[in-house]
Amino acid sequence: MNHTCEWCNSKKITAITSSVFWELPDGTSAIEIKETPTLSCPDCSMVYQSERTVKEIEDQLFLIDCKKIGKVVSYQELMALPRLLKKNYFDFLSE
Ligand SMILES: [Zn+2]
Repeated sequence: MNHTCEWCNSKKITAITSSVFWELPDGTSAIEIKETPTLSCPDCSMVYQSERTVKEIEDQLFLIDCKKIGKVVSYQELMALPRLLKKNYFDFLSE
């Protein structure tokens, strides 16, 4: 792997997994996502998700039925949930 710290450009960054708390797109509640790919930097002590991981989680939460997620889900489980695509959107319009 060839990660560079997004904060201090250190090359010593390591990939770990960690629990994160994430607000749902509708803002009603937050869930805990376990085993989320996380970067840990020994030089600036930042522990964070890469921009790519953040975008993947946000895209997935936007496209799945969030009511089907419990309060705690693992990253793998979350990413395995089926996406709703736009079918429901068009069903709603044709009603
Ligand atoms: Zn750093």
